[in-house]
Amino acid sequence: MTEDNKPRGPDLTRGVSLTEFKDGKLLGHVGEEDVLLVQAGGEIFAIEPACSHYHGPLAEGLVVGDTIRCPWHHACFSLRSGEATRPPALNALAVWSLARDGDRIVVQRKREAPRPSTAHRSAPSPENFVIVGGGAAGFAAVETLRREGFAGAITMLSDDGAMPVDRPNLSKDYLAGNAPEDWLPLRGEDYYQDAGIELRLNTNVSAIDPKTRSVTLGNGDKLRFDRLLLATGAEPVKLQIPGADQPHVHTLRSVADSRAIIKAAASATRALVIGASFIGLEVAASLRARKLEVHVVAPEERPMQKVLGPEMGDFIRALHEENGVTFHLKDTVAKLEGTRATLKGGAVIEADLVVVGIGVRPRLALAEQAGLAADRGVSVTEYLETSVAGIFAAGDIARWPDPHSRQTIRVEHWVVAERQGQTAARNMLGRRERFDAVPFFWSQHYDVPINYVGHAESFDDIAIDGSISGKDCLLKYRKAGRVLAVASIYRDLDNLKAELEMERSRP
Ligand SMILES: Cc1cc2nc3c(=O)[nH]c(=O)nc-3n(C[C@H](O)[C@H](O)[C@H](O)COP(=O)(O)OP(=O)(O)OC[C@H]3O[C@@H](n4cnc5c(N)ncnc54)[C@H](O)[C@@H]3O)c2cc1C
Repeated sequence: MTEDNKPRGPDLTRGVSLTEFKDGKLLGHVGEEDVLLVQAGGEIFAIEPACSHYHGPLAEGLVVGDTIRCPWHHACFSLRSGEATRPPALNALAVWSLARDGDRIVVQRKREAPRPSTAHRSAPSPENFVIVGGGAAGFAAVETLRREGFAGAITMLSDDGAMPVDRPNLSKDYLAGNAPEDWLPLRGEDYYQDAGIELRLNTNVSAIDPKTRSVTLGNGDKLRFDRLLLATGAEPVKLQIPGADQPHVHTLRSVADSRAIIKAAASATRALVIGASFIGLEVAASLRARKLEVHVVAPEERPMQKVLGPEMGDFIRALHEENGVTFHLKDTVAKLEGTRATLKGGAVIEADLVVVGIGVRPRLALAEQAGLAADRGVSVTEYLETSVAGIFAAGDIARWPDPHSRQTIRVEHWVVAERQGQTAARNMLGRRERFDAVPFFWSQHYDVPINYVGHAESFDDIAIDGSISGKDCLLKYRKAGRVLAVASIYRDLDNLKAELEMERSRP
């Protein structure tokens, strides 16, 4: 339904003609509800038109076989069943049955989206699966295990006090004050109870013993496992300068961190963001939304230049400046004395709130202690299995053989962590599924979303189509003539097409 509560397009129960479709889609309504008709191959499907992740418009998405992909964050749904087949969407969409008489289509009954599966109740199994980490990868894994009908015990251990949350929101809408806290959990408490998932929060895992197949908890208890998933994520790099341990100096990873920044922002007037990383600049934008004066100090010449290139770097800088952010680039903070920050270049910035966003480091202590093979991350096979059979790793800690870039890579992307959690779960069940998804991430600055698909650790040149400053562009990052990655602003469909092309041109 539109915001003025008027249903959109034609009444689909009265019937529409195929000639009314545009680019294979037609948005109409059934009663009060919007319904999207989609032509896929020779078939027509009727589905809810808003993605179950952030309500992206599927009418602008890409149809691939009998699925549709969301233009915003590349979630994917089955047009037949409405099932969410790829993260970041976790929940299914409703679909409608329809009758077809030649060119004429009449939408009939609604089939409600199925609730998240809690299939374990059907057939008990003696197996015990342990998941270390309550983040993107860990959550996606437990969800998938139940969805796939795993009937054994699942224990999810997290040293965080919060249930698995939508972490990307912590630097964006939630921090900006545009999203209430109850939007953050990926699922409510009931879900874990109904699905028989033992979620133990505030529980640190201190050791893994691959021989006895057990983990040791912080309180000394031991827990046996048949299969283990290690999904310990990453932690913010700590600033090593005098004064960095003061209470007004923050980092951002958890809900508690985001809450603490919000609390501090309520009484602060001037914020200093150290580091022009994705998270640092998203924090800058959110603090501007809270009307704080914001200064960003970073050593690079242009923000995000290494990943996105100089042209996009200049644009991001200008975008933040238009929104009132002051940059101090090619400089670093030498010391913090109370509210006084002294830069190496000699300048002094007074700031009553400091947020450090100078990158993250994968949390590898457990993997190292357990003797798992490591190479700037936990080394995993294409099945996301570590060097020890039965122990899998996924998310920010995992370095996997990426068939697209033909390198072993480790990334820090939400969607990749979720997709790896799903694949790892299926492989814990013995499915032998290769992880070959094309990496994808997004970042949001004010009203500007940046979508990035592929992976280019370095590139020779960038082919720019459209206008970056006009917020309508597609950038192709090329190395030795091959397109390794594509970034875009408001070219969502092209970004989806680039993803598909990379999937199809896999060596
Ligand atoms: C503020 C913020 C914004 C972001 N925005 C985006 C974005 O817009 N787009 C994007 O693609 N990515 C974004 N990311 C990155 C994305 O959130 C991560 O890539 C993703 O969360 C990684 O998932 P993970 O499961 O590997 O780790 P996490 O989600 O970090 O989960 C790790 C879990 O392991 C637990 N843990 C660690 N060690 C132990 C231990 N020893 N014992 C018990 N538990 C342990 C932690 O408490 C945590 O629950 C953002 C990250 C942050 C912090």
